[in-house]
Amino acid sequence: MKKQFAVIGLGRFGSSICKELYKLGHEVLAIDTNEQKINEITRYATHSVIADGTDEKALQSVGIRNFDYVIVAIGDDIQSSILSTLLLKELGIEQVWVKAQNYYHQRVLEKIGADRIVHPEQDMGMRIAQHLVSEKIIDYIELSEDYSIVEMVATTKVDQETLADLDIRAKYGCTILGIKRGKDINISPLPDDLIHKGDILIVIGHKNDLKRFEDEGL
Ligand code: ADP
Repeated sequence: MKKQFAVIGLGRFGSSICKELYKLGHEVLAIDTNEQKINEITRYATHSVIADGTDEKALQSVGIRNFDYVIVAIGDDIQSSILSTLLLKELGIEQVWVKAQNYYHQRVLEKIGADRIVHPEQDMGMRIAQHLVSEKIIDYIELSEDYSIVEMVATTKVDQETLADLDIRAKYGCTILGIKRGKDINISPLPDDLIHKGDILIVIGHKNDLKRFEDEGL
């Protein structure tokens, strides 16, 4: 079944989410107080309305209750972001995802029941920093403070080795979840699978172990 989405606040973050969801074929309602933002998004949303995300009546009149996911992407106006989130949870929206501006904003959002809190600038900054410091690291997902999933490029050092030869679980304490080669992806690879130079290894583990594997094993 198709999910229904609403995005409140169409700055850079909200409008990118809206466009991508629409491109993926989902129903998206775009909401902003700014008429110009609404005019700009019309072609990329199923519906778009000028409305205030902190106005309970306005939210009800656009039928917000019918949406499975509401993304609150109101920018600097932290007070409005909090109020809108509170109203949406009170109105019974199952999944309310909110962009947080800072740590205190995040703490309040957690308390009032936001289902997912995102920090797009910090997340992107961290990813870019990882690329900058290591040419081997392609992408990076932080699972917790200590654990991550990292995509690393296989170097000549591991070319034509099998996973069993490398034995990285025993040597480094991390696990290869998958191997990408061009457009192919081998998920849950077997011990006899060969690694080629240039493959992208998807590796999960403790950050220290991942770093050790990157520095010594690759
Ligand atoms: P970004 O950092 O993602 O570019 P911005 O701060 O530029 O975010 O954009 C936030 C958007 O949220 C703006 O388009 C603004 O008009 C909209 N906005 C602010 N307050 C509300 C509100 N109460 N209801 C709906 N939209 C709002």
